[in-house]
Amino acid sequence: MGKFDFIREQLDGLKEQGLYNIIRTIGGSQGAWFIVDGKKVLNLCSNNYLGFANHPRLKEAAKSAIEKYGIGPGAVRSIAGTMNIHLELEQKLSAFKRVDSSLSLQSGLNSNAATIPALVDSAEDVIFSDELNHASIIDGCRLTKARRVVYPHLDAAGLEVQLKKERKARRKLIVTDGVFSMDGDIAPLRPIVELAEKYEAILMVDDAHGEGVLGDHGRGIADHFGVHGRVDIEMGTLSKAFGVVGGYLAGRGEVMEFLRQKARPFLFSSAVTPPDVAACIAAVSILQESDEPVKKLWENAKYFKGKMTELGFDIGKSQTPITPVMLGEAKVAWTFSKRLFEEGIFAQAIGYPTVPKGKARIRVMISAVHAQDDLDFALEKFGAIGKELRVL
Ligand code: PMP
Repeated sequence: MGKFDFIREQLDGLKEQGLYNIIRTIGGSQGAWFIVDGKKVLNLCSNNYLGFANHPRLKEAAKSAIEKYGIGPGAVRSIAGTMNIHLELEQKLSAFKRVDSSLSLQSGLNSNAATIPALVDSAEDVIFSDELNHASIIDGCRLTKARRVVYPHLDAAGLEVQLKKERKARRKLIVTDGVFSMDGDIAPLRPIVELAEKYEAILMVDDAHGEGVLGDHGRGIADHFGVHGRVDIEMGTLSKAFGVVGGYLAGRGEVMEFLRQKARPFLFSSAVTPPDVAACIAAVSILQESDEPVKKLWENAKYFKGKMTELGFDIGKSQTPITPVMLGEAKVAWTFSKRLFEEGIFAQAIGYPTVPKGKARIRVMISAVHAQDDLDFALEKFGAIGKELRVL
């Protein structure tokens, strides 16, 4: 027995089950079409919802920031001082999200890891977590001694049952995705807000797929449901609709002040680079000025989803531009994705453990940068391959 035999066994196992992930190489910038493994293909899998990943204004902002601030942030903000550009981004995000205060972090994943263990840290505390919450929330929960209670997906009544059972907990934290990234459905935030208030639980929402997508000018899920000031912490990423990289927390001033003292990714990891931060500021400015990209995104999504349903595909319960094309077995999803690529479309298959076993799918990510011709091209190919593989 070699000490790495388990690795070979597991890798072979993944291949046998059709779950081995082949990561393709992108040879250029993001857009409706891009170069993947040397081939020009339609991009149906990036989170570049609004086309900001290659936006001229963001690129200009990044270049100017390099001239002014250089490339690197130097160190951890709490140890070596924070650059004023990070504070500017935080003020910008607070105004955009209509909250007291914000905190910039290195990624969405880090933002979840920053918040959950800081807020609940003892076995007397309880986290109430939707059963389909994102992996980074689950990882955040793993970093604390607090107990985790999983409630049924989107089920506010099920959440209340658990809140009642755990009435005596020292601290309670309800955490949910706003938009669920694999299904595109939306958490029922109004009843959840009411439950958080009734049971005096802290409420945290992961708005990674809601910002730039839901609400007025893409302000996110709290705006969508009109619950400003009633969500204690909105966690976000700057890598999806905002088109750059980084994460942030937005919410009550005292919570943000506390996280600046306690959140480990803030205290022990260096800040996002100045050009990234400048590009994020530009992204928020564009959204403040215009809701055109958000409107275009929804127009495209409505068109594509309507036509896919007409073709006979099961596109799940999505309420957002995320369009899961449900195919069941992982092998079918991988074959479908491979055939799409041969026909000029990059749309990734997603299987276990990212989604439950037997619920493999191709997740189509619609963007404002798609023209109707692009979507028609995709629909034609989906229809033909669907028939070829007998899923239609
Ligand atoms: N939360 C959700 C719901 C996500 O989909 C993602 C990105 N996959 C993240 C958090 C992590 O964001 P980031 O890529 O900025 O780490």
